[in-house]
Amino acid sequence: MPDGLAEKVISLCVRRRLVYPTSEIYESVAGFFDYGPLGVELKRNLESSWWNYFVRQRDDVVGMDGALITPPSMWKASGHLDAFNDPLIACGKCKRRFRLDHLLEQELQLSVEGLTPDKMQELIKENKIRCPQCKGGLKETQPFNLMFRTQVGVLKDEPNEAVLRPETAQLIFADFKLVQQAARKRLPFGIAQIGKAFRNEIAPRNFVFRAREFNQMELEFFIHPERMDDCELPANWKSLAVTVLAAETQIHKGEGSLLSFNELWDRKMVKTKWHVYWMAACWNFLLELGLDPAHLRLRQHVSAELSHYSSETWDVEYRYPWGWKELLGVANRGDFDLKQHQEHSKKDLSFFVDETKQKVIPHVIEPSWGLERLFLTVLMDAYREKTENNETKVTLALSPRLAPVQVSVFPLMKKDGLAEKGQGVFRNLMPCFSAVYDDGGSVGRRYARADEVGTPYAVTIDYDTLTDDTVTLRDRDSTQQKRVSLAELPEKLNRLLLGSVRFSDL
Ligand code: ATP
Repeated sequence: MPDGLAEKVISLCVRRRLVYPTSEIYESVAGFFDYGPLGVELKRNLESSWWNYFVRQRDDVVGMDGALITPPSMWKASGHLDAFNDPLIACGKCKRRFRLDHLLEQELQLSVEGLTPDKMQELIKENKIRCPQCKGGLKETQPFNLMFRTQVGVLKDEPNEAVLRPETAQLIFADFKLVQQAARKRLPFGIAQIGKAFRNEIAPRNFVFRAREFNQMELEFFIHPERMDDCELPANWKSLAVTVLAAETQIHKGEGSLLSFNELWDRKMVKTKWHVYWMAACWNFLLELGLDPAHLRLRQHVSAELSHYSSETWDVEYRYPWGWKELLGVANRGDFDLKQHQEHSKKDLSFFVDETKQKVIPHVIEPSWGLERLFLTVLMDAYREKTENNETKVTLALSPRLAPVQVSVFPLMKKDGLAEKGQGVFRNLMPCFSAVYDDGGSVGRRYARADEVGTPYAVTIDYDTLTDDTVTLRDRDSTQQKRVSLAELPEKLNRLLLGSVRFSDL
């Protein structure tokens, strides 16, 4: 990991306007961001890769898109009104407010993952921790609810309180029956959703890693309660090697061990096989996106950190510059949510099983992802730099399927008809590829600009192009160049982008 990786990636994001704090011309509000032209392309590529993998390429998962503003009754039923809290500790002198676990981690330089708020409060006392800003005394910890509230309607006496959803999952549970009937699905099947979630985080930090407005990509997979182990892992997932940190190991302060998903199941380290299945699916997807598995691990939640709805949760963690932290989580939500909504809404949310003529409340395994967290992780994992002759060159080694721009087109010069020829090549590629045309500065500068945002291929138009209709095709990662005829260019680019041919074999 290069020194100062976080600062470097954030600075690149802001400088090239991939993503930057919102409302810059006024004063930004912490935890909210805008995405510029390249950022929005990367974000959409991630989103569509996820949707293709988890929804389109499966016949047992369908999608939906729920509303952002929801009645509080939904969140009473889900438990969020009462339990979706973070521990907040305030300074008695300067009144600054801190998230208790973050404050402890910062002051003691250790992970407090899994400790209860009471235990953390004890640590504050034992270590005589004071306000890091003014050294004032800290008050008792209080739970702080993370949900944003808003008002709906124009009439004064209208019952108009509403909530901005803090997760997408509840919309899926509330619509479970409607979607199941519309899609005519039998158990087991899943419903997926990508969309905004809002959390009034006490301390938004680490750029888009912890924001107050972000997108979640969630899949609720509904299973017959007696068939939680009825599945097979595809052969190529079974043997994937993962670093595993089980709850038991954490209690005994042990190290993670390298296991396959098959071993994870054979050793009964996870309660249900469908849970192993979805963890393997998530892991495999990360590998397909090109993430380095050495930077990833699976960590089980210890009982004190389990959410109110979960009987077992495993996070896929990434080794960020600020430590191992959750990239995504896979939870066993059991029948908690459907039962709660059934009880509160008084609507039957059970599923009728034809073979046994029984009604059951399905159990749920939930892979839950944050789109922006994945965005930042992918950038950090792809960041490379090389210093030559006192000049540092940055390359984002992004998978071609994610790169915001797939191919740049550069005329060597603007004169002698090269610009016109270049424009022609660009317009030809544009309908099939995400392409840009760049004629500013030296070709070297243009390569550097393209490398820095991860553009995998560049096409240069030179004087030979005018006579023989060939161009130079340059590969970002090897910086190798090859002469390619214009007639073959789209097909060759396509094969390179799909990964069906290597540049060296072109
Ligand atoms: P954390 O422990 O980091 O606060 P969480 O356990 O509250 O996360 P979940 O409720 O499991 O997170 O949400 C699912 C996913 O949504 C997370 O794995 C993460 O990728 C993303 N996510 C959660 N909170 C945020 C946030 N404030 N900003 C960006 N992404 C988030």
